[in-house]
Amino acid sequence: MKRKLFTPGPTPLPEEVRLIQARGIIHHRSKEFSDVLKEIREELRYVFQTKEEVLLFSSSGTGAMEAVVANIFSPGDKVLVIRGGKFGERWAEIAATFGVQVISIDLEWGHAVNPELIEKKLREDSGIKAVFTQLVETSTGVVYDIETIARVTKGKAVILIVDAVSGLGAEALCTDKWGVDVVVAGSQKALMIPPGLAFVALSGKAWKLTENSDLPKYYWDFKKAKKAQDKNQTVYTPAITLVCALRESLRLLKKEGWDNVLGRHAKLAKATRQGVLALGLQIFSKAPSNVLTAVEIPSSVGVKRLRGLMRDRYGVEVAGGQAALAEKIIRIAHLGAMEVTDIIVVLSALEMSLSELGYPVEMGKGIAAAEAILGR
Ligand SMILES: *Cc1c(COP(=O)(O)O)cnc(C)c1O
Repeated sequence: MKRKLFTPGPTPLPEEVRLIQARGIIHHRSKEFSDVLKEIREELRYVFQTKEEVLLFSSSGTGAMEAVVANIFSPGDKVLVIRGGKFGERWAEIAATFGVQVISIDLEWGHAVNPELIEKKLREDSGIKAVFTQLVETSTGVVYDIETIARVTKGKAVILIVDAVSGLGAEALCTDKWGVDVVVAGSQKALMIPPGLAFVALSGKAWKLTENSDLPKYYWDFKKAKKAQDKNQTVYTPAITLVCALRESLRLLKKEGWDNVLGRHAKLAKATRQGVLALGLQIFSKAPSNVLTAVEIPSSVGVKRLRGLMRDRYGVEVAGGQAALAEKIIRIAHLGAMEVTDIIVVLSALEMSLSELGYPVEMGKGIAAAEAILGR
């Protein structure tokens, strides 16, 4: 059976990317590899919408999140964390692990943060050094209004740190233009390569803070990484195969055009939402993102049974909910190398599985609603 991934990481791999990885390995101190890095550095600036260097690490996205804390802060520093789901919680856990003092804005899961709340917190406490947030909180499928949040932090001493691991490539993020100070991303989402690479972009304001940070770091030292990358090198042995795959995926994204990539995600997301609503199901997220559609599943159907059937019968893998949402929602990702027909496939598998599990479905209704958007 063909395996079809509709999960918010890892995402499917384009054939061009798969083939690159079948090639023999090259040495990371060779001119050939330096040339790859040189091209990637340029393209990452484009993708991250920044003129600054985008640092590359061989790790999953969380590694880069931890590295951000270790490189910018010192014990006792105070930060504000937006906690609207699993990944917001992760920022708070990492900061606390390093002895950084966390104040949080706790959201009801499924809701987006109101930027005015951030402004209020910053006004009340001038000791806050940074605001940590997500672009898309993948556990709830919610997109946050980073442009407006950046207006709150811009021109102040505080920096804005955005986990865009799932959002980059699916939602607009104008790093320099909006004044976002730190952006974290990962390889296995919209960048269409396997897990194993993570990225960090820092503004001049954020780089200045790294000068005073005295938290321990060795492998993760941003200054060492930057110095090496300036010479088209990495400090340590990188995940060479993934780096070569990344060059290929960045070429594909460039060929499509960044605005078209974002537009494609928006269209597939809208079609998925319409398809799901046409089946009488509810969208969980109050501000649904273009990364994934979180769908409330009636308890009579059951998340576990539904996911199992979609996977075993149709080869369609969707994600379940996390933590308290485990048995409440499924998350259908339309992220990365996805196209119009993929949405038909996932909605079809959803309709047939729901029907088999006794949920009343008028076959084809979800697909028809999606096609009305996809066909345009
Ligand atoms: C996937 C993801 C991460 C990183 O997770 P890893 O498993 O460490 O790659 C971080 N934040 C968000 C919002 C994500 O979706």
